[in-house]
Amino acid sequence: MKFELKSFFQTSAAMACLAASSLAFSQDVFPNKTISLVVPFAAGGPTDVVARMIAIPMGKALGQTVLVENAVGAGGTIAAAKVARAAPTGYTLFLHHMGMSTAPALYKKLSFDPLKDFEYIGQVVDVPMTLLARKDFPPTTFTELQAYLKANGNKVSLANAGLGAVSHLCGLLFMSQMGVELNTIPYSGTGPAMNALLGGQVDLLCDQTTQTVPLIKDGRVKIYGVTTLNRLSALPNVPTLSEQGLKGFEVKVWHGMYAPKGTPAPVLDKLTAALRVAMQDPMVKQRLADLSSDIPPLDKISATGLKTHLEAEIIKWSPVIKKAGIYAD
Ligand code: ASP
Repeated sequence: MKFELKSFFQTSAAMACLAASSLAFSQDVFPNKTISLVVPFAAGGPTDVVARMIAIPMGKALGQTVLVENAVGAGGTIAAAKVARAAPTGYTLFLHHMGMSTAPALYKKLSFDPLKDFEYIGQVVDVPMTLLARKDFPPTTFTELQAYLKANGNKVSLANAGLGAVSHLCGLLFMSQMGVELNTIPYSGTGPAMNALLGGQVDLLCDQTTQTVPLIKDGRVKIYGVTTLNRLSALPNVPTLSEQGLKGFEVKVWHGMYAPKGTPAPVLDKLTAALRVAMQDPMVKQRLADLSSDIPPLDKISATGLKTHLEAEIIKWSPVIKKAGIYAD
């Protein structure tokens, strides 16, 4: 068979145009099927609450269902690695909190790089935390808590959502500033951890207001303080940990939405636009305000807004984590 070089190039050029046009076509019709929004903690926890809250208006804006998928384990790093390896088509998204910025310092062997393996859709919400105890835990005031922890140390259990979770980080900062060593118990998220607290199986938990405010208001848990420097509108009578003696104690949990590296720009633009619509949704704004959670300004709900923040947070938290001598194996 005579091999015609000319026809080979004509065919390859035709194939290339076909591929480019079908890629353009697929980006134009994006999304034409359900989108998966991966959440790295168990259902019912604060990250899951945020994801399910924004999935509905985001889906409406995109004209497709945004389906929340919980992929748990290792403080969110298993889910991050899974999304980093997913097809870059825009149909697999990731909602994670500041754990994306603490993982590089906490994990010696991390199976993803937050700054190389993802595209950035935008910042989502900043959520304060609250230090809680099971309802019948003996200390009532923060002063009584300090004395009790000094006297009982690791006989006291402190739940968290695994190494790299913000409940873990909050707990570590709390223990190091209090000068106590507690018995930390990991769960697949602070949804299950909260069930253990409500059931009296654990003593303490530091968790985001996106889960804890309704339980605090219903008196189902004991609260000692909030982890912001100013009191929260949702809990005006609850003092901050800083004003009670843990000077400058501050953990505010920011969240970001990501896609796998290589997701086409036109698809990312549609996703950022839909996220902005979701964050402006009246129901979302009201619910997050009721939970003392701050929606970032629109310019932060952008690729640059998220990537710049992530870079700054990695720089901020790495020395804090190293100084506290915290890391995974
Ligand atoms: N609050 C968890 C954490 O400590 C996250 C979650 O369970 O939603 O990171």
